[in-house]
Amino acid sequence: MTSLLRPLARAAVLLLVLSVPAVGQAPVFDYDRLRTETAQRLSEYIRINTSNPPGNELATARWLQEVLAKEGIEGQILDTAELGPGRANFYARLKGNGSGKAIALVHHMDVVPAAREFWSVDPFAGLIKDGYVWGRGALDMKGQGIMQLMAVLAIKRSGMPLSRDIVFIGNADEESDGLGSRVFVERHRDLLADVEYVLTEGGDVRVEKGKVRWFGLGVGEKQVYWQKLVVKGKASHGSVPTPDNPVPHLARVLARIAAWETPVRLTPAVDRFFKAQAMAETGQRRRWLQGAAAALRSPKGRAWILSEPERNALLRNTISPTVLVGSNKTNTIPAEASAELDIRLLPDQDTLSFRRELLRVIADTSVTLSQIGDIPRRFSAPLDTELARVIERTASRLVPGAPFATAVGAGASDRPYYASAGITCYGIDPYLVELEDARRQSHGNDERISLENLELGLRMHLGILEEMQEAR
Ligand SMILES: [Zn+2]
Repeated sequence: MTSLLRPLARAAVLLLVLSVPAVGQAPVFDYDRLRTETAQRLSEYIRINTSNPPGNELATARWLQEVLAKEGIEGQILDTAELGPGRANFYARLKGNGSGKAIALVHHMDVVPAAREFWSVDPFAGLIKDGYVWGRGALDMKGQGIMQLMAVLAIKRSGMPLSRDIVFIGNADEESDGLGSRVFVERHRDLLADVEYVLTEGGDVRVEKGKVRWFGLGVGEKQVYWQKLVVKGKASHGSVPTPDNPVPHLARVLARIAAWETPVRLTPAVDRFFKAQAMAETGQRRRWLQGAAAALRSPKGRAWILSEPERNALLRNTISPTVLVGSNKTNTIPAEASAELDIRLLPDQDTLSFRRELLRVIADTSVTLSQIGDIPRRFSAPLDTELARVIERTASRLVPGAPFATAVGAGASDRPYYASAGITCYGIDPYLVELEDARRQSHGNDERISLENLELGLRMHLGILEEMQEAR
């Protein structure tokens, strides 16, 4: 994926470069004004406390509706009955001429709760100071929601002709059960019928010591496939042991599962992801990451690649035994013992064939295996689409020199719901935040985003949306 710039797009990039004020022309968008407005809007948005639970997304949906209405864009507050009191999804659409398919910008309106005592500022005051907007959601993901909103507003104001409609969606409840996006996708297939792409969070941009190690496009995530194991026995007194104690029985089963080395499989997305990571390494390590397929065949290369838990998790289905329940009394043998397994499957893994393998490893027909929660939905996007290419070009223009990676996530997002409606989904994190800061602030304390990053994210969205209007 090196020289994918089509001549037309190359010309468009050149035109964009030529249209900066340096050659005496006014830029299409006034980014100084837009940056200030973006920060103010984000501050207002943060002030509406949507900590989940309880969520309270109806208030943000009303606010979004009001902001868009002032610019002549009609928004809809949806699913209030299905989501419960104080909750809602939000939907709006900027109409084009209908010649191309729509692109949906999706964000979640809820945030995780904040422990005020650990913050140096009020997490819901939307403070703008020292070049940052502070507050819960600044990174995850009200900041990005506002970049999307401002991109819609800037395009509307500019009168840019659109071949593709731009859809703007705010979902409830991403930080808990994903009920918002699930209900939205189930109930509003009509609104999504012409949507070709969803663009949302989950891209993985790695910045360490001021250096952008890679800019990631999220193309897939592992499937959550939680299971419960139950072993039945006979309840009796612990002072008189019998062979029917389910606790040692379960322990033997768990030992077999824990010892199971699931097969290692390199998917094309992860292969590309490792190639981007290779740029930050030197010598042998660089060669191993550049040619992961070959490295995985050599004992040394394989041991090194798998030694890093995050890399290991991207190369295989993983099983973490977590919850364990036997007796609650030392002197009582229980009637049953159970364990829960946090299983994460590769994005393209067939669940039934994995289940067969797991049952083979368990090798004990008296054990029952049952699923916890929903049937997993797959999210594994194609790597070679118009939108993926446009994002790559836009990222390399705005973050020059950063290797472009196709990132696969070990965690879960709302994207599988949209993917289940036949939409190609991607994730981007359009801001540059040091790894340590991102880990400490996102879901942690003193979450904040710089004004430079708000501008970068806005430029990225506008760049992508602008270029996608030419693409078919
Ligand atoms: Zn999020």
